[in-house]
Amino acid sequence: MTKKRSLKERLDAGPVICAEGFLFEIEKRGYMSSGEFVPMVSLDHPEALENLHRDFQHAGSDIVQAFTYNGHREKMRVIGKENLLEPLNRSALKIAKKVATSPLGEEQNLMAGNISNSNIWKQGDKKAQLEVEKIFSEMVGWAVDEGADILIGETFYYAEEAYTALKVMKKAGLPSVITIAPYGQNIMRDKISILDTCKELEQRGGDVVGMNCHRGPNTMMPYLKEIRKVLKCHVAGLPITYRTTEDHPTFFNLPDNNGCSCHSPHETTFPTALDPMQCNRYEIGQFAKEAFDIGINYLGVCCGANPMLIREVAEAVGLKVPASKYRENMENHYMFGKNKRIPKHIKDYRNKA
Ligand SMILES: [Zn+2]
Repeated sequence: MTKKRSLKERLDAGPVICAEGFLFEIEKRGYMSSGEFVPMVSLDHPEALENLHRDFQHAGSDIVQAFTYNGHREKMRVIGKENLLEPLNRSALKIAKKVATSPLGEEQNLMAGNISNSNIWKQGDKKAQLEVEKIFSEMVGWAVDEGADILIGETFYYAEEAYTALKVMKKAGLPSVITIAPYGQNIMRDKISILDTCKELEQRGGDVVGMNCHRGPNTMMPYLKEIRKVLKCHVAGLPITYRTTEDHPTFFNLPDNNGCSCHSPHETTFPTALDPMQCNRYEIGQFAKEAFDIGINYLGVCCGANPMLIREVAEAVGLKVPASKYRENMENHYMFGKNKRIPKHIKDYRNKA
């Protein structure tokens, strides 16, 4: 088991699937506090994190991204556990490496180190910006140490913060994926347009440039189309799996329009009451196919992702993955199926069921 193509070789040859959105999924599995969102799971329940990666690998993810999102120095200070910063990062990286190097198919997965939005970046504040650069540098250092094949910088809503992340990743000399996550005003918070930010990231050497998180398929696709038209490098598209709209382009202010009878105790449905706005698998599959058809080869889903949706993305672009063995088979359903053995009186009752 030594075969392992580079990210670029894979992207040049066809679609590459990357599962993200571990925060929401591990929270749903009961191993993370919502809102606080710190990936203590790599230390508290390493077996649960390994299982999460295995499930996404089984569903077709080619990349095993170390779960260090929010596992940065500033967030660890917020929760008073700065002493666990390095152990958390190293544990997450080791688990990702373990899974990536024991794939289900013939080729190893790529292990990705991960940095993301620091949430202390401030325009014009050199001190804060230097602090963010230090936060990125130490995380990238640990990722390189633990054998990352690629680096992913994601969910940036300040253009300049994304440029800084890319600068740090480039210094490490590994292939770099950089994706942005603009808020509802459809512009980066430092007033640079989405397209200009992506153009600049390509100019600065991003190997894969694109968008992830905050936006569902409907409000991400229009920008991906523009980006794909203008950029020459590979492009990434990893939406959240919620039905965002023109009026509410991100999940932060998404209203519940499904007859909610017991409102969320918080100001917004984000992040604990988004469930009724979840896209179904066909919407996610349609997004992936449309993106792939216009030349976007780096595909996945972010918050709201689960293994079933990753399989859907993979299959929508023509891949067969281990979990394809268990794809839907309504043929044998006891009431809706067409199988000859299904009794007529059961089938005939389906409209009244
Ligand atoms: Zn996300």
